[in-house]
Amino acid sequence: MSRRPAWLPAPANRDARAARRPAPPRRPGGLGLASDRARATMVEALRRGGVRDPQVLEAMGQVPRHAFIDAALASRAYEDVALPIGHGQTISRPSTVARMIELLVQSMTAAQRAQASVLEVGTGCGYQAAVLARVFGQVVSVERVRGLHEQARNNLRALRLSNLRLVFGDGHLGVAQAAPFDAIVMAAAGEAIPDPLLEQMRVGGRLIAPVGGIRQALHRVERVDREHWQVTVLDAVRFVPLRTGTS
Ligand code: SAH
Repeated sequence: MSRRPAWLPAPANRDARAARRPAPPRRPGGLGLASDRARATMVEALRRGGVRDPQVLEAMGQVPRHAFIDAALASRAYEDVALPIGHGQTISRPSTVARMIELLVQSMTAAQRAQASVLEVGTGCGYQAAVLARVFGQVVSVERVRGLHEQARNNLRALRLSNLRLVFGDGHLGVAQAAPFDAIVMAAAGEAIPDPLLEQMRVGGRLIAPVGGIRQALHRVERVDREHWQVTVLDAVRFVPLRTGTS
């Protein structure tokens, strides 16, 4: 009887048929099956934690979070924690990313999601941008720190998300050339939602953002018509601050 644990690969030339099978495709980040399993466990935890939307769960299961962080931290990639990404910033917790995106997609049909144009403010390492690009038709993500903008570009290359565009700039200004947006999501908290972002929302569109200083709450803003926005205050949260200008 073999005592080989199930997760150990079969010894060489033990199974000639297996040897003739084509090699599995190389994955970005390269941790292969172990990370697939860890990610499936993470998705299960998100489901237990209350994330319901099947498309959001599927997208969370597809994006390799370990490929967005330093190799030294990769073993913690599928824990529900924020981790440092350099420049004093962090990658958001998976539960935060899932919750924000679920709030964006609520009551959107599959067709609306597929056609939606979305803006993310605060690309960071690019993780949430990748998840957004798996759910929405077009995604633009803006980052004010040049080093992070470039890091995100490198992290995202292998995923070949042709519907995702990264922009270097101050998110306070939005991205006028790509507006209007059906949805906007902010990954950093300001004391108020910048006016250009409100202006760049399509009528009927939605914005999700943390607002506040030491105390923050998630805000959902819906543009009712050209001159009216409806704001709903949701849960207490803790995000990095929205900063002005670029660096
Ligand atoms: N979306 C990231 C979270 C990054 S943390 C993820 O997937 O985990 C928030 C990011 O917002 C930081 O990278 C920070 O530099 C950026 N940020 C802060 N103020 C900003 C601004 N005014 N414009 C654009 N990005 C900003």
